[in-house]
Amino acid sequence: METKNVKAFGTDAPDASLKQMNIERRSVTPKDIEIEILYCGVCHSDLHTARNDWGFTVYPAVPGHEIVGKVTQVGSGVTKLKVGDFAAVGCLVDSCRTCDSCKQDLEQYCLNGFTGTYNGEDKHLGGMTFGGYSEKVVVDEHFVLKVPSNLDLAATAPLLCAGITTWSPLRHWKVGKGSKVAVVGLGGLGHMAIKLAKGLGAEVTLFSRTPDKTKDALDLGADAVVISTDDNQMNSVKGTFDLIIDTVPYVHDVNPYVGTLSVNGTLVLVGYLGGLEPFLHTVPMILGRKAVAGSVIGGIAETQELLDFCGQHNIVSEIEMIKMQDINEAYERMLKSDVRYRFVIDMASLKE
Ligand code: NAP
Ligand code: ZN
Repeated sequence: METKNVKAFGTDAPDASLKQMNIERRSVTPKDIEIEILYCGVCHSDLHTARNDWGFTVYPAVPGHEIVGKVTQVGSGVTKLKVGDFAAVGCLVDSCRTCDSCKQDLEQYCLNGFTGTYNGEDKHLGGMTFGGYSEKVVVDEHFVLKVPSNLDLAATAPLLCAGITTWSPLRHWKVGKGSKVAVVGLGGLGHMAIKLAKGLGAEVTLFSRTPDKTKDALDLGADAVVISTDDNQMNSVKGTFDLIIDTVPYVHDVNPYVGTLSVNGTLVLVGYLGGLEPFLHTVPMILGRKAVAGSVIGGIAETQELLDFCGQHNIVSEIEMIKMQDINEAYERMLKSDVRYRFVIDMASLKE
């Protein structure tokens, strides 16, 4: 298969900095769209992958799955977009498309495993997929999204992961007017969860460890902020929430949050992957028919639904634009929870 050599930014080892490298992109097949990447958001999953936190990174790794760009080439059978259109790509670039999940537009739960935008098995070129920290990407049109024309392109990029990851549980658990939603952690996912839950008409509370994020949370639309390290504040919201979206990236005690669920309430984990410590108490769950659940990103149709909703409601991410060369420093700030509230890379900087 013919390929094109493009510039990218990636890493060769868990303890190495990200640096410029070259990667191959396939030539467009009849169903492919080639996109010149204009902006790419920086997700905490990029950091987890670059540093092999989850134990399955294959190097070299090129992260980035919040991609917005311009179509530069389309295959002969492409109908979704044309050259010159703006386009977006999120966390998925392929799935089997035949299993029960795929048939229900739940490609993220593909029973044969979805292909991640990075660090997934590349079915075309072999090896692993490379993400959005690069000049160009080639993706099957089914996995390419349309960008609403009224939204700022750079601030739209984080909708492709932070947005859909919080939108999907809000929709699955039928959040709307009258729902009481809480969000744990005010970072990239957390700030989108607040905006989207508010957009759906819910009453929203933020749980944060960081008191100086209080004003920002209220400005983002939160109705209340509870400092999670303050027992009195935690006690004051016992039995309150229908849905809690927990975005914390590292192991933490979820029991105090379960206590703040209402009867029939659900706490959905979207951040931490791994065993819970300390153990999860079943008594409050059993006595209140409460659930602790998990959720991963969202399907393609649901991602388009989110983008269209954001277009109608003028919802985008709060971003800090960085150059590609600043990525290592951005990761360090992310580790200190010092992101207000999503870094987005101006990919033009890769040409410098
Ligand atoms: P982020 O921007 O770094 O935000 C995480 C927030 O969690 C921080 O701002 C902080 O908020 C809080 N936090 C951080 N460390 C904590 C700790 N040790 N204990 C308690 N709270 C802590 O990260 P993100 O990009 O939103 O991603 C969050 C997590 O979701 C990551 O693990 C990422 O890999 C995962 N993720 C999952 C999916 C999915 O499909 N399920 C998709 C995307 C990302 P406060 O300062 O307010 O406490
Ligand atoms: Zn992500």
